[in-house]
Formats: sequence, C-alpha cells, structure tokens
Amino acid sequence: MTTVIIGAGVTGLSVALRLLDSGIVPVIISRVFPTPFETVDSLGEINYASQWAGAHNAYHEPPTTPSTARDHAFAVRTYHFMDATAKAYPEAGITFMKGLEYHEEGVPGYESLTVETAAELGYEDFRLLARDELPAGVLAGFEYRTWSLNPMVYCSFLLRRLALGGCRFVKRDLRSAEEVFSMKDLGQTCVVANPAPLTYTRQYADGRWSFIIPRNFHGGTIIGGTKEPNDWSDTPSLATRERILRDAAETYPEMLGKDGKFHVLRDIVGRRPTRKGGMRLEREVIEGAGTVIHAYGLGGRGYEMSWGVAEAVFELMGKGGPRL
Ligand SMILES: Cc1cc2nc3c(=O)[nH]c(=O)nc-3n(C[C@H](O)[C@H](O)[C@H](O)COP(=O)(O)OP(=O)(O)OC[C@H]3O[C@@H](n4cnc5c(N)ncnc54)[C@H](O)[C@@H]3O)c2cc1C
Repeated sequence: MTTVIIGAGVTGLSVALRLLDSGIVPVIISRVFPTPFETVDSLGEINYASQWAGAHNAYHEPPTTPSTARDHAFAVRTYHFMDATAKAYPEAGITFMKGLEYHEEGVPGYESLTVETAAELGYEDFRLLARDELPAGVLAGFEYRTWSLNPMVYCSFLLRRLALGGCRFVKRDLRSAEEVFSMKDLGQTCVVANPAPLTYTRQYADGRWSFIIPRNFHGGTIIGGTKEPNDWSDTPSLATRERILRDAAETYPEMLGKDGKFHVLRDIVGRRPTRKGGMRLEREVIEGAGTVIHAYGLGGRGYEMSWGVAEAVFELMGKGGPRL
C-alpha cells in the first residue's frame, strides 16, 4: 500500500518526516514545492502559505478551552521538536531566542502565571514584566524562550531529509481534491535588512498587531503584520507597509540603525489557510478506495503546531503513541 501526502507546505513535509522516521516512505504530490525564498513568484504562489510565514512561535495566551488546549499542546510538542532539531541540525534554519509579548488589553491568564505554573504549561524561562518595564499603553507584557526559523531554509531542509530517505515527489495540481481550503486570510509583512536580537509580538487594543521576527542565515528581519479575512487582493499596500513599520519602530526603536530608518528589502503578501471552526484533523474512510487523513487549515500557526500535528496524523493512521 502506498501512502500519499497531498501538499508540500510545512504540514505535509512534517507529516512525511514523521512517517519516514517510523519506516513509512510516502509519496508527496503537490502543486508547489519549497524553493529559495528570494526567487519565489509572489503572485503565482500567494496561496503557498509556508513560504510567506515569519516564522516564529508566539504563544499569545494560555489555553482555556479544549480546542485551545489541544493547539497549545501541539505548539509545545513542536517547541521540543524544534529544540532537538536545532541542536542536531544547525542547517535546519531554527534559532532559539527570547520572545517578548506586549498586550494593550491585558491577558488575565498570563497575569496569574508564576514561573512554576508557566513551566507546567510548557513555557521555558517565562517572566512576567513589571509595570515599569512596559511601554506606554501596554497593560501586560511577558517574555519566554522561543524559536524563530527561516521558512524556506527549514522547508528545504525537511525536503532534503525526505529525499535522502527515499521519498518520491510528484508535481501536480490536483483539481479533483475536494475542499482543499475553504477560507483564507490575507497577511502582509515586510522584510528589512535591520537585525533584531529577539522575536517580539504586540497585540493592540484596536485589534491590530505588530511583530518582529529575525531570520537566520542573513535572511533579514520580518516586520508584521496584518490579518484580513477573505481579502483576495494580491499586491502589497504601501500604506500598510508604512503602518507596520511605524508600529514596530514605536515599540522597538533599538532596531532602527544609526540613520534612524528601516531598510526595506521587500514587501510580502500571503494567504493563511484558515478554516471556519479551526483546522480539520480527522480520518476518513472512502469505501472501496482507501483512507484519507485530513490535516489542513492551520491558519496563522502552521509552523508552531507542525510537529504536534504530524504526531496526531501518525496516531490517526493507527501507528501508535507520540514520540519525539
Ligand atoms: C504573512 C504570514 C505570516 C505568518 N507567520 C507565521 C508564524 O510566524 N508562525 C507560524 O507558525 N505560522 C505563520 N504563518 C502561517 C503559516 O504560514 C501556515 O499556517 C502554514 O504555512 C500552513 O502550512 P500548510 O502546509 O498547511 O499549507 P501551505 O504552506 O499553504 O501548503 C499547501 C500545500 O498544498 C499544495 N496544494 C494545495 N492545493 C493543491 C492541489 N489542488 N493540488 C496539489 N497540491 C496542492 C500547495 O502547492 C502546497 O504545497 C504565517 C502566514 C502568513 C501568510
């Protein structure tokens, strides 16, 4: 029996590696495969979310419901996977650093966290910031150890490991695949040459957010960002670029060089594969044909949850419990 994976984004590649680790050599069918970020076709490949991601792990808020608890558990498993992978393979493009979050409306779940309860939830080196450490307008701030990766370096690393393990790759556009994505949201970011020593996220009271994600291997720094549900435009907006750079400069002025400017390399727009009701993660038996495991719709957290989802797919295949 052949195991086929549709899609060569971070989800498909992670699931493929998880299978390969346990002796199953899948075939990957996909319209697009990882290519160097510098030469990707912005318009033709706007739906290939994995190349447009920052990509960092920002927890945002502690879990409060069964579905946020599941997603958080996936993010924590992925964190440990990234830690082990960064140590074993420096060329994977993963860097560990301090993550800083600012919230203008406060986050009750976080304010009651202590170092011990945060550690139980999987946060490492967690620290709640004191009031006098917060910029004006910010009610809650905290930091923790986290990772940031260079997406196409990481996806190409996964692809190479799969190729070495004997996986086959088929480049096809599967027009008959039902319900590949049912909803998308548009994200705009900007790559600048200015370096940053940490990843940083700020959630504003009016709903907008700002983030800074350094990219290793001389990949610049990502400044973000936007999240516009069902926006089908495909060109970056100059006004949005100015807004996101202004927000980033306001809360993290250390990033501006001696000349007080950001040095813009390029604008990015991509669509996050979001689904109403959250990701689809389930097993479907098609009578007389075979079994399909659905794992898509990871929205803005595909890298953060990638290894947790890969483990879950493995379990749905009936292949046993989780392992690192
Ligand atoms: C601006 C922006 C910033 C982001 N920042 C972060 C971040 O910091 N951290 C984070 O965790 N996530 C981030 N994300 C989200 C992350 O990029 C996605 O969650 C993740 O890439 C989803 O991966 P995927 O493999 O599920 O989908 P995709 O990467 O979209 O891959 C889908 C794959 O399926 C293939 N495919 C689709 N349809 C067909 C078909 N009909 N036939 C054949 N093949 C097909 C495609 O070619 C592609 O290979 C960001 C996204 C954007 C846009």
